[in-house]
Amino acid sequence: MYDVVGNLHLHTTASDGSGTHDEVASAAVRAGLDFIIYTDHNTWTNGVEGWYHDSETGRDVLRLMGQEVNDQNLEPERNHLLCHFVCSDLNGVAAEPQDLIETVTGRGGLTFLAHPIEFKGHRDVELYPWVSWDISGFTGVELWNAMTNVKYRLKNVAIGLLGSYLPNWVLSGPFPEMLAKWDELLANGEKVVAIGNSDAHAMPITWKIFTRTIYPYEFCFRAVNTHLLLTEPLEREVDRARRQIYNALKSGRCFVSYDMIASPTGFIFTGASGSNQEVMMGDTLTLQSEAVLRVHSPHKAKLRLLKDGKLLKETRSTHLEWRTTEPGVYRVEAYRRYWGQQRGWVFTNPIYIKKGE
Ligand SMILES: [Zn+2]
Ligand SMILES: [Zn+2]
Repeated sequence: MYDVVGNLHLHTTASDGSGTHDEVASAAVRAGLDFIIYTDHNTWTNGVEGWYHDSETGRDVLRLMGQEVNDQNLEPERNHLLCHFVCSDLNGVAAEPQDLIETVTGRGGLTFLAHPIEFKGHRDVELYPWVSWDISGFTGVELWNAMTNVKYRLKNVAIGLLGSYLPNWVLSGPFPEMLAKWDELLANGEKVVAIGNSDAHAMPITWKIFTRTIYPYEFCFRAVNTHLLLTEPLEREVDRARRQIYNALKSGRCFVSYDMIASPTGFIFTGASGSNQEVMMGDTLTLQSEAVLRVHSPHKAKLRLLKDGKLLKETRSTHLEWRTTEPGVYRVEAYRRYWGQQRGWVFTNPIYIKKGE
């Protein structure tokens, strides 16, 4: 398998970010990303998609255009929806979240609920959670949004500035409430794909005489990302590469990782049942008497296997194996110690085990 890493939620000067499209792409190249998807608020920009060549490093990154569209009926704006692979402006096309999900799906796109659960560290911090849960047909959820960690830690401007000097202190993992919400959604029997992103804005903040850009793009792109598992290397031809990324995201052949802790490349979660059925994360496995689930990690970690949100096995190792005769939704979490505490490192999409005929 080929591990292709990208960030699918970030902002530029086209909305409330501080970097131009090119500056953001250069930062992505320096951080080693393979692709980025721009998601400015209610904004579509023509002519940006394609490979970006960074002359300083001599490396390239694939740029795609998406949008983050908020519910037009709510003030403050809530229900932020990441709309990917729709090559046209979605601003104002649908007022209600369900209408928007259906519009994007109808135009061949994918939809992810952005930062669905947020907590504030300070009373003045504005939150933009997902509030309309009577929805269906969306592709997935943003399980880990790095900026939600920042908002929670931001007790005041001084701590915000301190956090900007010690950014790794701030990022801890997806909120337990978000993991529980994902498990609840998965319990409905539908595939719900998890992704992880930076939501990078790289905004300068000022306190007394100090001004500093908090969470610059390059730092963000070395932190929380989405890794896709492709059967072929990412194509150079843009439409074919877009299709590869689309397919991996739609099928859930991807995992969320905090890359700065350790490179997760080589992390795999597979399942097998019977003599000729082998699947990976995101796939459905049909039970033939017994299934074997296997996890391999490129680094020793606290590996946790969960079924329907409940812990089945926890081990500190590079391997985990589990035999089961039970249908259910199986997923894996990995934690590693970093900057003085256990932090979330890898969160895989599930293997869905279904009863055989
Ligand atoms: Zn948002
Ligand atoms: Zn955003």
